[in-house]
Amino acid sequence: MPLDDAIAARLGRPIKIRSVEAIAVALPLTKPMKMAGVEIRTADNLVVRIEAEDGTCGWGEAASAPTMTGDTLPAMVAAVRDVLAPVVKGQDGRGRAKLVQKMAHALHANTGARSAVETALDDLVGRTLGVTFADLHGGAVRDAVEPMWLIGNPTVEEDIAEAKARMADGYAFFKLKVGVKRVEQEIDTAIAMRKAVGPDVTLCADANGGFDYPRAAKFLAGVAPAGLAFLEQPLPPENLAGLARLVRSTALPLGADEGIHSLADIEAHAAAGAGGLSLKLIKLGGPAATLRAAALAAHRGLSINLAAKVSESSLGSAGTLHLATMVPAADWGVSLTHVYLAEDIAKPVLRIVDGKVKPPLGPGLGVEVDEAAVRKFAVT
Ligand SMILES: [Mg+2]
Repeated sequence: MPLDDAIAARLGRPIKIRSVEAIAVALPLTKPMKMAGVEIRTADNLVVRIEAEDGTCGWGEAASAPTMTGDTLPAMVAAVRDVLAPVVKGQDGRGRAKLVQKMAHALHANTGARSAVETALDDLVGRTLGVTFADLHGGAVRDAVEPMWLIGNPTVEEDIAEAKARMADGYAFFKLKVGVKRVEQEIDTAIAMRKAVGPDVTLCADANGGFDYPRAAKFLAGVAPAGLAFLEQPLPPENLAGLARLVRSTALPLGADEGIHSLADIEAHAAAGAGGLSLKLIKLGGPAATLRAAALAAHRGLSINLAAKVSESSLGSAGTLHLATMVPAADWGVSLTHVYLAEDIAKPVLRIVDGKVKPPLGPGLGVEVDEAAVRKFAVT
């Protein structure tokens, strides 16, 4: 049967969901990463596999991020197994918008688990209908996006060496992790990085809420020669009054990440004078909510960074990449995190070409999950 006829035949048929499986995986990182004072060696992620009665499978992924979403991996698995799977199982995937609404009513918060299930539903429906993830949601407005690379080593020499190696791969957008060392050292590092990479590379910094007000003010006062594009989440997320005061003290745009979990958070940060924000599927609770958040951010004149969470594989990163081609702007860059993994669970591994990444072609997310790899890295 010609492809068009095959799709037409499928459109009239329900996409009845036979099974919903939550799989916990521990994916090895290329090098240990220090975050919030702890060293992590594996990415502990939830993988969701949804199978329809005709055998077609849809896949989704969400990183566990206890310090960002409050979700631990065992809790995410339980959320899918005990609450979300019963909502979806036996239903028609074509009613996915209704299912997403039902899941939100059935389970407060748990945004990572809900995002992985919604993404898997999108992947399943896209594959069945022969439609890309982007087209399923209204279409892309750009063909490719410029990825950024995260930098945060013990020494400035290592930071510069890493940036230069990645520039050879085509990266021209770097985010420096700050809020960890002495402020003076972080200012010196940012200025040394600017000298090393030259004027054409975009540099920004992310404190992950690690500064208090005096340290944030000191960093902003000293870092001007580094020509940063913005500073993300300088203060803890609840300190909106501090953010508003900081905004008035500096010309550098200030962003929010840990503080953004809802449309109400976006409104509050816009009112406090934030210049932009970082949107992540696991914080907002899925693709549809992320698109609504991006529309509101654009409406409020905020810049947008689209980010996967360190470290989602090419499966989770594909969802973020598709969304980055669809949002009104991705002017604060796109963070894809499969690049920090030693081994991936999906193909094609998303590659950077001439400084840009294009979403994989093909229906749904456009990536094929390697089930053997998923089972290999599965943990109980
Ligand atoms: Mg951040």
